Amino acid sequence: METAAVPSVRQAEKIAHENNKLHKRLCRLAGQAIGDFNMIEAGDRVMVCLSGGKDSYALLDILMTLRQRAPIDFEIIAVNLDQKQPNFPAHVLPEYLTALDVPFHIENQDTYSIVKRVVEEGKTTCALCSRLRRGILYRVADELGATKIALGHHRDDILETFFLNMFFGGKLKSMPPKLQSDDGRHIVIRPLAYVKEADTSRYAEVRNFPIIPCDLCGSQENLQRKQTKAMLRDWDKKFPGRVDSIFAALSTVVPSHLMDRNLFAFKDLQVTGAAIDGGDIAFDDEPCTTTAPSLLSTVIPLHPTS
Ligand code: SF4
Repeated sequence: METAAVPSVRQAEKIAHENNKLHKRLCRLAGQAIGDFNMIEAGDRVMVCLSGGKDSYALLDILMTLRQRAPIDFEIIAVNLDQKQPNFPAHVLPEYLTALDVPFHIENQDTYSIVKRVVEEGKTTCALCSRLRRGILYRVADELGATKIALGHHRDDILETFFLNMFFGGKLKSMPPKLQSDDGRHIVIRPLAYVKEADTSRYAEVRNFPIIPCDLCGSQENLQRKQTKAMLRDWDKKFPGRVDSIFAALSTVVPSHLMDRNLFAFKDLQVTGAAIDGGDIAFDDEPCTTTAPSLLSTVIPLHPTS
């Protein structure tokens, strides 16, 4: 009996070790994003928007840990908008937040009826629903005296939005980790900007968050976002490192090597005698530089004999 118990104890230890590593990684990445973008400052009152989804639970949980460790003082207030979707389990979040002993506010607004009334049958309701939600949350932030509004978007959300904007909007644009709200009165932050969705999913399982699905309204998840997500997953499987490289590229923009005339004064460009931003050879590789002379030599002799 004793010998049979050994592997399961080991396994339990291994799982506990992995879970501990996961928690550390989430804290480290969120802390890094907060520092890189100066998301939270001393005296901030951070309104954490809690939808009941895995990402917002992870955000609140990680921010609470970071607050305990932070060298600065800041407040957290969790906010949930009850949109009156059918079968929304209204007791879940208040019970969870009370047990957590975190200040919270539940805002009751029936956006569900508005969305159902305004959006044509069969059309996706998420765009209007999100817009309404955003407006309400900005108002609530004002009323609560919040200085920052924290959202649970993660690295995969940022990458998907980047590709959606490129594929369908003709823009190099994504979800920034820190931005000014549309009404110009708040700073919105995304502390999970460096965190992979796989990690928030796993963390939600580990912490057993009482997840409330976001499809109680009967709306389908945006098909284009779903396809983009699948494309990125597929790339990640087939070409390890590719998605990481794309994500890194979002922080390493070279306007002089793109085509936006508002970001770089191409018209005023003059000879300076030095390469700009690494010059035009960044992606020349070995085969190219070694084969080029021999290819050229078939057309123009490189060392004429006479
Ligand atoms: S799934 Fe429903 S509740 Fe969630 S964003 Fe879309 S319309 Fe709103």
